[in-house]
Amino acid sequence: MAGAACALPGALRPPAKRQRRSGGLLACRALAKQTAEADVVVVGGGAAGLAAAHFAAVSGARVRVLEKMDEAGKKICISGGTRCNVLPAEVDLQRDYFTESSQSALRAIFSTWSLDDCQYWLTDRHQVGIPLVLEAATNKYFPASNSGAEVRDKLVAACQRHGVRMQYGAALQDLATLPGGGWRVQLADGGAVDAARVVLATGGLSYAKLGTTGDGFRVLRQHGHALHEPYAALTPLLGQHPGGQQLAGISLYDAELAAVPAAAPDGFGGGGSRRSRRKLSKKGTRAQRTAMLFTHRGFSGPAILDLSHHAVQALDRGQPPPALRMRWTPAGPAEWEVRLQGGGTALAVGVLRREGVPQRLAEALCLKAGVPLDRKLSELKRGERAALVAALTTYQLHVTGHEGYPKAEVTGGGVPLNELDCSSLESRRLPGVHVCGELCDVFGRIGGFNFYFAFVSGRLAGLAAAEGAAAASSARRAPAVGA
Ligand SMILES: Cc1cc2nc3c(=O)[nH]c(=O)nc-3n(C[C@H](O)[C@H](O)[C@H](O)COP(=O)(O)OP(=O)(O)OC[C@H]3O[C@@H](n4cnc5c(N)ncnc54)[C@H](O)[C@@H]3O)c2cc1C
Repeated sequence: MAGAACALPGALRPPAKRQRRSGGLLACRALAKQTAEADVVVVGGGAAGLAAAHFAAVSGARVRVLEKMDEAGKKICISGGTRCNVLPAEVDLQRDYFTESSQSALRAIFSTWSLDDCQYWLTDRHQVGIPLVLEAATNKYFPASNSGAEVRDKLVAACQRHGVRMQYGAALQDLATLPGGGWRVQLADGGAVDAARVVLATGGLSYAKLGTTGDGFRVLRQHGHALHEPYAALTPLLGQHPGGQQLAGISLYDAELAAVPAAAPDGFGGGGSRRSRRKLSKKGTRAQRTAMLFTHRGFSGPAILDLSHHAVQALDRGQPPPALRMRWTPAGPAEWEVRLQGGGTALAVGVLRREGVPQRLAEALCLKAGVPLDRKLSELKRGERAALVAALTTYQLHVTGHEGYPKAEVTGGGVPLNELDCSSLESRRLPGVHVCGELCDVFGRIGGFNFYFAFVSGRLAGLAAAEGAAAASSARRAPAVGA
């Protein structure tokens, strides 16, 4: 491998400390202005970039990963509350992924690698080697160690076993074509790396403090890609709690949220949009039944995060958000009607509590429905019961804003899939440049779906980049052989 700028073979984390102790930092700086070479340069050492690097290296390419931060995969380390929900147990593309691009392109990408094969890659000790455990209650896979850091370390180690060179503190500035073919990756520090193929895996715009500041979007735009406008997705929403109460800290574990255009019916009968996942159909769309929680400023938890992008996109355009209607417990209107019927001295609010609605929320919903807290079932008026049933089953959340990229788990929008060749993720505008991970116009709901897409797209880009680099190398050698 030509040019050894800043490569730290054998290091799981580049560890600024280790460099400093050995005097390596100075050496790296001295080398930074040199131009290194590789067959495949992967820009971004997150989940997608590490998968791309691993598969390109396994295919025989000399691979260099350029990572802007001082360590790889910071997002992997903090994901899933640092436990890293690394995969889901099952996938339904229509239900679990959101894209404004074509569904057939999405299917084509996922058809290249099954969930089982991805899981095997992660667990097999000859490949990545992370023991995984299924959390049955949520259908999510986590590392047995419950450690995102282990996932990151093992991905980096798997790359390095195949000779991948990790270069940290190396921020992509721009791309330029080389006269004889291939690309020069220009770095912010003035250095450069030349390669036959480039894999861009710089992630989106969420959690910028972890390195994701939209650099890939910038470079791709500069070179003619038209992006689907990025937006914060899987982000908490701002708004008033029921009855104007402060309910921060209250969680529900079996709530169901529907996002419906304001004029639509309740949103719980239609089954949700099966077409574009960006625009709401008239029937609206539902989150899977799961947890939600009240924050100090509004609402969060998977039920909220999964549909938050509908509110984000409307609010960002200055439009009113769709109606977000909450069913706080699994029971529907008919079941609540029955529970709130009949005589007896039980308090209505007590029935709500008994059926799993937390005390303070039960009180807030009664207040909202105009039902006094000392109202007994036997005294409940028909109109009060109807209002209470509505508050329990189709409560419209009052949403005023969102927490944006700083708290968004992913970025929606990005490179339209029709601007990529779906069999290689090669850019149709920049031949020889492959795009993967969160840069693409795809994101999944909460549950390990985003890492699955990062791995699938990273693998596809890495394999294709290695193949392209090998073809370029044979083409260069061919005349000499013939001579
Ligand atoms: C708090 C949080 C929790 C999450 N939990 C989960 C979870 O449990 N399960 C799940 O499936 N998903 C989870 N996600 C989403 C998941 O982390 C991302 O979808 C996934 O990491 C995207 O992978 P990526 O490789 O495309 O991008 P990233 O992981 O963001 O990696 C991009 C890399 O590129 C680097 N980079 C950026 N710009 C440059 C540049 N100019 N030059 C060089 N390098 C650059 C960045 O430093 C970064 O290392 C979570 C996200 C967050 C924020």
